[in-house]
Amino acid sequence: MHDFKYIKSELYAEDVPVKKIVEAVGSPVYIYSHNTFLRHFNAYNDAFNGQPHTICFALKANSNPAVLRLLAKNGCGADVVSGGELYLARKAGVPVKKIVYAGVGKTEDEIVQALKARILMFNIESSDEMIAINEIAGKLKTKAPIALRVNPDIDPKTHPYISTGLKESKFGIPIENAIEHYKLARKLPNLEILGIHKHIGSQITTIQPFIDALKKIILLAQTLKTHGIDIKHLDIGGGLGIPYHNEHPPHPKELSNAVLPMLESGNFNLILEPGRSIAGNAGIFVTKVLYQKQHPEKEFVIVDGGMNDLLRPSLYNAYHGVLPIRKNNRKKVLSDIVGPICESGDFLATNRELNRLSNGELIAVMSSGAYGFTMSSNYNSRPRVAEVMVKGRNFYIVREREQYKDLIKGSKIPDFLK
Ligand SMILES: *Cc1c(COP(=O)(O)O)cnc(C)c1O
Repeated sequence: MHDFKYIKSELYAEDVPVKKIVEAVGSPVYIYSHNTFLRHFNAYNDAFNGQPHTICFALKANSNPAVLRLLAKNGCGADVVSGGELYLARKAGVPVKKIVYAGVGKTEDEIVQALKARILMFNIESSDEMIAINEIAGKLKTKAPIALRVNPDIDPKTHPYISTGLKESKFGIPIENAIEHYKLARKLPNLEILGIHKHIGSQITTIQPFIDALKKIILLAQTLKTHGIDIKHLDIGGGLGIPYHNEHPPHPKELSNAVLPMLESGNFNLILEPGRSIAGNAGIFVTKVLYQKQHPEKEFVIVDGGMNDLLRPSLYNAYHGVLPIRKNNRKKVLSDIVGPICESGDFLATNRELNRLSNGELIAVMSSGAYGFTMSSNYNSRPRVAEVMVKGRNFYIVREREQYKDLIKGSKIPDFLK
């Protein structure tokens, strides 16, 4: 909320009235605060000061090139999960030695690209993948730097769709099979074992799951040492939550206070992969009220932004705060904020008590900087919205709104239909 606040009754992004941005750029629009991104990144960097560490921002949370550039310029690395993200990270100037690559389904092309780029390491998720990377590295006459993503079987107590560290999850290698997998990796001539990776889930609001998972992987590192396998990088993933509603997630400093004493016995470089906790509260999604209607059971506020623009409410039933761009003291009404998409699941907020809005008014869907634009689509043939970055008194369009002609980009009508 720091950088999105009311001055008198008007919502500002840093020092710019949100209304002014929408007048120039239109609605709906994502608005990011430069200052918040920087403050959040620095909070991590400062918290782990003194411990050799690399902060690899998870691009899937927000991969706008200007955002990536801002983070890269300040020393941030990248956690990528596709060839596309690798491309974006490099374009933004992230040094290759600060790029880690996770994901259960890396393709041969993607592996070749990452090997040629000489990234810091692959976070490998299966023995099949290990064998494939070894083979591809051999063909390229190089060695692949690797960590194994282990699944420590820890319940992060978050939404099941964003839990990744439980036994039944598709991610990583079960921790009880880790040693044998490391032994296999050691036998493969074109792999260089550098680390252990884990990532147990997202929107985690307590420290304990991090501690429990870290204990297990430190123990694993110690056991590997007795087998002659030296671990250089401990990659503890991302997952720290943010306050969307009334959660009180730990600050990166609390994470470091818990984690750093545990690392004293080893000589590790620590890798962190925060996504949401850097980007989430650095962005808002602004949309305009089109119509309102009263059904016997419910009131609906129909806005021009929908689930194709911001999917989290529909996908995870996620809560996002909703604020009017201009405060009023009209009567409070309970309503659902819904989009124009032809799906009943198309809502941005349900059962919210807001001072009655009028048609044409703007509202801000808060905490939309992570998994907002990156999850957006063209569903219902809606052009993707613009993204704006605010810095102090200035704002910059960091992605143009798509046009209708973008909807047919790359498509072709076969001759027999002409
Ligand atoms: C999604 C993801 C992250 C980022 O998670 P946040 O909850 O956004 O911090 C980090 N690492 C991996 C491997 C991921 O898949």
